[in-house]
Amino acid sequence: MNRDVFITSLPDLASKLTLSEEEKDFDESDGTRLPIKIPSSFFDLIDPDDPFDPIRRQVVPTVFEHVEVEGETLDPLAEKRHAATSRLIHRYSGRAAFLATDRCFIHCRYCFRRRFTGTFQGPATKEEIEQAARYVEGHPSITELLFTGGDLFTLSDARLEAMIEAFRSRRPDLIIRLCTRAPAAEPRRITPALISMIKTFDTAPFFLMTQFNHGRELTKEALRATALFIDNGIPAMNQTVLLKRVNDDADTLERLCNALLANRIKPYYLFQGDLVSGTAHLRVSIEDGMKLEAELRRRLSGLAMPLYALDLPEGGGKIPLVSSYLEKQKDGALIFRTPYGEHRSYPAD
Ligand SMILES: *Cc1c(COP(=O)(O)O)cnc(C)c1O
Ligand code: SF4
Repeated sequence: MNRDVFITSLPDLASKLTLSEEEKDFDESDGTRLPIKIPSSFFDLIDPDDPFDPIRRQVVPTVFEHVEVEGETLDPLAEKRHAATSRLIHRYSGRAAFLATDRCFIHCRYCFRRRFTGTFQGPATKEEIEQAARYVEGHPSITELLFTGGDLFTLSDARLEAMIEAFRSRRPDLIIRLCTRAPAAEPRRITPALISMIKTFDTAPFFLMTQFNHGRELTKEALRATALFIDNGIPAMNQTVLLKRVNDDADTLERLCNALLANRIKPYYLFQGDLVSGTAHLRVSIEDGMKLEAELRRRLSGLAMPLYALDLPEGGGKIPLVSSYLEKQKDGALIFRTPYGEHRSYPAD
């Protein structure tokens, strides 16, 4: 197969792009940092003349990653504490997340799972898969399983098949989410053979969970990859990370969400950046995020509108970030503000 070449070092980057001082000063020799990894097809989306190119900012590191602000940690969601087995995070009663592998096609500079991503622990072993599958078997309250990581599609078809088999043989009813950046980062990995294999496990639904952060990532190849899933009965949902100077303006997000919807991908979450070490320069304040959310609500249809959400620190779980439209209660009536700033009342009981 015609696979991507990856850019994996600063000298490699410097030979292709005129690096700014901030980019040059990134210290890649420090082993605690997420290494550079950019698939060439994703790299080709960068406009080399724009130092603030939104694609560039997602993958080219800067010296600002050396800065750790107060409150930041390597494991902001306390996932280690919620580990039910070595690879299974069970934070919500009805669903659990399985870390299929630590490998990714791309290293995103804002990655919240950088305590794990790209740390060379590799794919889950047979024993780790069995352990997690037995746990899910013993907890029938878990109805949904997220295959995440890393990126599950870095695994070969055969390995993936064994992994799905381990869970679905014990729990044929288990809904499985395939959480991946492959359609954006390595669309050629998505082949008809892969989809056919997944389709053999047809006792319960699969959902494709993509991550597109900017409309420019929706290339022809990326859309071919997502269409393969959708045409074969696997619905696609998208999770976007809100990122400073990447997508933190209403026009960019509006275009992204409408383009996703036009390609049958439902905008699902817009995530507030997690407090992960070295990512402050990419985070948007919640106040600005809420303003964007309100503006998007005025512009987008319900189908195109993602839920702006925050994964609370220390494993508090996800909460919606939506300003309240209920302003007050008066004489037995609830007074609401409309999205356009007018007022309406509705009986309190
Ligand atoms: C986000 C997340 C889920 C899924 O949450 P939804 O709100 O159902 O999308 C499940 N498990 C973990 C550990 C998560 O972080
Ligand atoms: S693809 Fe996902 S897990 Fe991998 S580096 Fe990017 S955000 Fe992190």
